[in-house]
This record gives sequence, structure tokens and C-alpha cells, in this order.
Amino acid sequence: VDQRTPAELAEAERYTAHNYHPLPVVVAEGEGAWVTDVDGRRYLDFLAGYSALNFGHRHPELIAAAHAQLDRVTLTSRAFVHDQFAAFCRSLAELCGKELVLPMNTGAEAVETAIKVARKWGYQVKGVENERAEIIVAADNFHGRTTTIVSFSTDPEARADFGPYTPGFVVVPYGDLVALAAAVTPNTVAVLLEPIQGEAGVLVPPTGYFAGVRELCTAQNVLMIADEIQSGLGRTGRTFAIEHEGVVPDMYVLGKALGGGIVPVSAVAADRDVLGVLKPGEHGSTFGGNPLACAVGHEVVRLLATGEFQKRSAELGERLHARLGELVGRGLVAVRGRGLWAGVDLDPALMTGRRACELLAERGVLAKDTHGSTIRLAPPLVVTEAEIDHAVDQLAAILAEA
Ligand code: PLP
Repeated sequence: VDQRTPAELAEAERYTAHNYHPLPVVVAEGEGAWVTDVDGRRYLDFLAGYSALNFGHRHPELIAAAHAQLDRVTLTSRAFVHDQFAAFCRSLAELCGKELVLPMNTGAEAVETAIKVARKWGYQVKGVENERAEIIVAADNFHGRTTTIVSFSTDPEARADFGPYTPGFVVVPYGDLVALAAAVTPNTVAVLLEPIQGEAGVLVPPTGYFAGVRELCTAQNVLMIADEIQSGLGRTGRTFAIEHEGVVPDMYVLGKALGGGIVPVSAVAADRDVLGVLKPGEHGSTFGGNPLACAVGHEVVRLLATGEFQKRSAELGERLHARLGELVGRGLVAVRGRGLWAGVDLDPALMTGRRACELLAERGVLAKDTHGSTIRLAPPLVVTEAEIDHAVDQLAAILAEA
């Protein structure tokens, strides 16, 4: 805790578990791509809530939808149907091109839902022997923080000391089709992958990888599950990042931006032959699909259906990547990503990712490091070209000064 640390930060440190290491910024307000701290300093938000803020802070239409719903009804539980439920689920199913959706709250819950559905599908539809279902995942994955999900993490920070671990997962290298094919057994029910590995550092797999995954899954009667929680909903310039690969998964897992940065909303989407395996009493959530979540989520889907955000992300993403590319060899060693999403590897001799984020924050740009010398840049999709230039200029300046 440095000298400039505001009192709010020290108090938070004192009264909360230290499961995060936040930058020394205390946000008081947000609008669009910007946040303002308690002292009135403004920052460009190039983290965007780990992509939960794809539409920016307080997007007017999302806020209006939330306000309107706050004045009507906010929670019923799924014991009753409410008048926002069908419209949201239908619009989301249509956006995904799937027959059914199942709304939950957080990303991890949606991943857990996908795992449960895949296992049940394996036993009831594929005919896998009871208790033998296997799900193949990738090394360096990030799918959430529950005990089952960290069981198949390969990150010691995420996994160590949280055992005993849930069995039934097989880990293969990301992007390696041969390894994946070799891991499939008659008990394999699903392959669960991020179309781009976000937390691992915005890793884009080799061209053709996902086409191969799709082919393999179809041939072996294995469900292909795309975790689009961070990569989806416009971030990469398409509605789903997997679209860049020209394939359609059997199940989408969605979260983050689905709640418009206002409420936690997640979901899985799949056809009836998959999601239809769930019967009353077998799965659920008190808050999943609540009226406020559905009202906001429906507006999110409506915004995405215009295609405007995907287009912005694709076009401005080219600008972001071109500008970052100019810094390779001048403090950066690599830049990866798609659309308005970039993983930037700093020259480790210059500084850590953490230090870079601290220096960027001092210059009014918020970003987050991951794994040593990598930082992630993922501004809200409402960011402007001038704002992108400004943020990259600040990165160039800290690299030049290092
Ligand atoms: N899956 C992916 C790909 C993610 O990036 C995340 C969060 O970063 C999650 C799942 C977990 O979502 P949540 O933090 O809402 O549980």
C-alpha cells in the first residue's frame, strides 16, 4: 500500500480477504469507456470488467431497461414464470442459433451447468457407463473458480490447496489437434474450450484448429462446448469468437457482457437434444433468469442483434492491433488477439506487467496484467479511435521511459 493509497483502499484491505491485488485506484463513477476516481481523476477503462463492460459503463439503453424493470418486479425465482423470461430466452436462443437456453448468474455457474448437461447427455443419450464420463479441456484454461472447475485448471495459483479434486477431466495442450484426438475415448462426452484463451494471455489457436475440433467431435459423438464468456458477445469483432473459425459448437457458454455490466447474467445455449436432458428438480438457481437480469439481458441481445458493436470491434480492433504492432521491438515482444482484445507481451527486461499497469494507471489508463510480463487490453466496444490512440500513446511513453 503506497503513500498515495486512498483511505478507501486501505479500509478494503483491512476488511476483506486478499484474493485480489487491485491497482491503487478507487472508482467513484463510470460512463462509456471512462471511469472517474474519488478524487475526480479520469481513466480510460481498458479492462472493461474483464469484458463484462463490452457496452461501456452505464450504456443508456441498458440503464433504461434496468430502471424500467426496477419499477416493476425484480425477483420471482423460477418457481413462477415472469413476463420478461420468455422474451429474453427466445432472443438469446435466436442470437445463438440454438433451440434452448438455460440462464444462470455467473460464468462459473454456466460452466458448471455445461459440465452437468454434458455428463447427463453422455449417460442418457450417448450411453456412457455410469460415473465414467470424461470431459477434455485445454492446458492453461480459465473457466472459473468453483472446486470442480479449479480441479482441471493447470494454474497452480488457481488450483493448489483446493483439493480433493473432481475427477473426470483430461487435460491436453491448447491448439494441438493430434493430442486432442489421442485423448478421446468411448467415455468422452465433451470437449470444453475457450475459442481464445483470455486469462492465459489472449492466446489465439492455430488456424484450422477449431475446424478440426468440430470434425473430431462430430465423428466421435462428443459435444463441442465453446466457453465464450470472455471472448463472446462482440469482443472479437463477431458475436462469437468461434465464428472466426467458421464452426458452430454444440453448446455456447455465455456470461460477463450478457449482464450489460449491470447484473450478473450467464447462460448456456444448445439444441433440445442436449439441453433437453434436464428435467425439473435436476438443476437450478434462485437468481438465474430473474426479471431484472432478463430485462437487461434482453436489451443486451437487442444491442448485439444490430451488429453495430461487432462492427466497431472489428474496425477499431484493426487500429488497436496496428498501433500496438508498431511497439513490437520497442518494448513489446509480441501482440496477439482479435478485435478489441489484445494480449501484449512486454520485454521482461523492462518491467513486469504489474508495473506497466501501475504506470499506465498513473497516466490515466486502466489495464490488467496476467502471468508476469503480459498485459491485456480490452476496452469497452464504445471506445473511439482517438481514445485507442491515446491509450497506446501512454503505453508507448512508459516503454520509452523504461
Ligand atoms: N470462463 C471464462 C473464459 C472466463 O474468462 C471467466 C472469467 O474470467 C469465467 C469463465 C468465469 O466467470 P465468472 O467470474 O463470472 O464466474
